[in-house]
Amino acid sequence: MKRIGVLTSGGDSPGMNAAIRAVVRKGMFHNLEVYGIYNGYAGLIAGNIKKLELGSVGDIIHRGGTMLYSARCEEFKTPEGQKKGIEQLKKFGIEGLVVIGGDGSFQGAKKLTEQGYPTIGVPGTIDNDIPGTDFTIGFDTALNTIIGAIDKIRDTATSHERTYIIEVMGRDAGDLALWAGLADGAETILIPEAKHEMEDVVQKLKRGHERGKKHSIIIVAEGVGSGGDVANKIEEMTGFETRVTVLGHIQRGGSPTAADRVLASRLGARAVELLLEGKAGRTVGIENNKLVDYDITEVLGRKHAIDEGMYRLSEELSI
Ligand code: ADP
Repeated sequence: MKRIGVLTSGGDSPGMNAAIRAVVRKGMFHNLEVYGIYNGYAGLIAGNIKKLELGSVGDIIHRGGTMLYSARCEEFKTPEGQKKGIEQLKKFGIEGLVVIGGDGSFQGAKKLTEQGYPTIGVPGTIDNDIPGTDFTIGFDTALNTIIGAIDKIRDTATSHERTYIIEVMGRDAGDLALWAGLADGAETILIPEAKHEMEDVVQKLKRGHERGKKHSIIIVAEGVGSGGDVANKIEEMTGFETRVTVLGHIQRGGSPTAADRVLASRLGARAVELLLEGKAGRTVGIENNKLVDYDITEVLGRKHAIDEGMYRLSEELSI
């Protein structure tokens, strides 16, 4: 293998730049030429492809977002779109591809592999919802952003008697809500993976209130419903004053944490090694701090699950 490509796709996450840098530098360390594909699969189809040099990825390790930009591309979901992408890669003499993104992007990588094109998936998403790795690139940074925001809300919360509801990202996965809730000592964590009765939520709030607790924090993963709906329900059932904060896209941005930069560097470099070893259709990940790789079809067939022990712990610590 002489020439490889790298692209970022789907929702961006902090640390993607560190992963791109690792792919480029590791590739060049092994005398490969590395090409950047801009704007995800849309750019792949359009041939928006340029050779990257060592300096192209200088000064990006600490930056959020992705220097290769990202996009969503419906055309790539069709076999014709995928064929066009592969033709572009062949035109540029690129023999293997690293795709950094979430599960949608992995579907695209799987299709490329099925069409006979060697592709490796690197998990980059703040949601931490990709099987085959303990952590995805961007999760730790997003989590720390949430914690920072809740800490600030907590400061003002101590001055008022209110119930604070914080809505965080996570349509299908409650990892951000669960970890943030545990890290911030939230009273209640509502995640899509668990059933919740509003009656229980309210009873817990009332118990706290009777104990003299001045304020409470409830974290809601967006997949459960809106923070506003939860707040209305609580006001209706208790008469307590509520305040809602929807953290939104600030969770995607910011300088990646050390943990994300290190993870991205390790996973990006490992993806290049796999291509050099002649492997294809794999995802890279980290389990118990060891690098692992799995068949991409097998990974996409698995369902991400939250750590149930952690969820129980969060309930035990917030009685
Ligand atoms: P993420 O990677 O963050 O989960 P998306 O789900 O939006 O983001 O997927 C990103 C892109 O991956 C899509 O816009 C599309 O180009 C490609 N993709 C998603 N699903 C498929 C699929 N089933 N087949 C081929 N490509 C897909």
